[in-house]
Amino acid sequence: MTDEEWLSKNVSEGHMTQEHADQWGVLKSRVLACSRCPLHKSCNHKVFGVGNPKAPFLFVGEAPGEKEDLQSEPFVGRTGQYLRKHMAKAGFAFGQVYITNILRCRPPDNRTPTQEEIGHCFLFLYEQMDLIKPKVIVAVGSVALGALCPKTKAIGSVRGEELSGFGFKVVPVWHPSYVLRTHDPLREKELVKDLKKIHGLVYPKEKDNA
Ligand code: URA
Repeated sequence: MTDEEWLSKNVSEGHMTQEHADQWGVLKSRVLACSRCPLHKSCNHKVFGVGNPKAPFLFVGEAPGEKEDLQSEPFVGRTGQYLRKHMAKAGFAFGQVYITNILRCRPPDNRTPTQEEIGHCFLFLYEQMDLIKPKVIVAVGSVALGALCPKTKAIGSVRGEELSGFGFKVVPVWHPSYVLRTHDPLREKELVKDLKKIHGLVYPKEKDNA
């Protein structure tokens, strides 16, 4: 289901006001029209996000990759499919999540975003956080963690822990591309364990039955 379909469904079912849905639409148009940094010239498509705009979980990755840039959807390439597979195994249903990135435009050759680019894009994420009001934000990888919890320790020492960022509960997990790159089964186990724990923060009974 697209954002627009979710919005009108939520409004018609009374879960969201029309004003809230309108604010979401305006924010999306601003992201799609953004020219704050040169990345808007090199990318094919902006990637706003996907999922339920009132979801209890907000997943935040680093930046769109090649497939995401072509399809205008986050986490759809190999890395994304791997993450989504483990999210589903951990109990996350599509309606329970919204997925986006720190950057909305693909950096050339998937290089790490610069602090300047993060600074330009972060306000959009902040506005999305404010509209979604998720119970938990999942910082996927160290770039998302650094932007959401700037003073925290390295991801290796805090992954799976409940941190605080911009007034929200933030839990970092390994970035799936790091897990895939290292070929280390321990890293995969840690990712799965952390995802299950995070799901259990909002749905404890489902966690107990897992
Ligand atoms: N990696 C990310 O951080 N985000 C995506 O959307 C895809 C890959």
